[in-house]
Amino acid sequence: MVSVAIDGPSGAGKSSLAKRLAAELGFIYVDTGAMYRSIGLYGMRKGIDLNDTQQVGACLGEIAIRLAFEDGNQHIYLNDEDVSQEIRKEDAGMAASAVASQPQVRQFLLDLQRDMAQKYDILMDGRDIGTVILPNATLKIFLTASVQARAERRYKELVEKGDKVTFEQVKTDIEQRDWQDIHRETAPLRKAPDAIEVDTSDMTLQQSFDALLSLIQTRIAQQKENM
Ligand code: C5P
Repeated sequence: MVSVAIDGPSGAGKSSLAKRLAAELGFIYVDTGAMYRSIGLYGMRKGIDLNDTQQVGACLGEIAIRLAFEDGNQHIYLNDEDVSQEIRKEDAGMAASAVASQPQVRQFLLDLQRDMAQKYDILMDGRDIGTVILPNATLKIFLTASVQARAERRYKELVEKGDKVTFEQVKTDIEQRDWQDIHRETAPLRKAPDAIEVDTSDMTLQQSFDALLSLIQTRIAQQKENM
């Protein structure tokens, strides 16, 4: 099986690119952020303290997460409810970041993520895919962009969706999420030593897509030659 790990901070374009690349290559796209967001959403709805490991731990036994591919789109089900739209909101992102720092939550999702990589050719995006989940991935990409560039893209996306946010608010959220993801003890966001870094600050989505596609195709061709 071919597995491509794409890690990086929020807003670098991981999910938009991974989705398009998976369609192009005929691979399955595994959005691990959506899994953390679903757990965050569950806790938020229950009104628990998301930083309290005991309260979060108690929730895990009540949660079943399932990915489904329908009409070419990925849907995520939280206890059989399609939460694909709801988890995209900013508060679900912050909630995800809070629960994602807890080892019990990461362990809960680890098997599900590894299992997908064993069954299918995949593109998996997240924060620790190359470092923890798939240390032997066919290719590891670390996708970054400046805070300013990421905030601009995210702001545009949210405004287009009709969310009422200010640019400053979006930028502060990104900075805060970066800080939490980089400084946590368990599976912090960092580049795997063997990952290829791609900085998309000055690239359009199409340019980033072309760059990544070329990296993936080259690696797959190399792998075939070595077999
Ligand atoms: O990628 P996305 O913004 O959807 O992820 C939401 C949050 O989930 C991130 O800020 C991060 O804290 C957490 N996450 C993680 N590990 C992953 C994917 C996401 O810790 N593999």
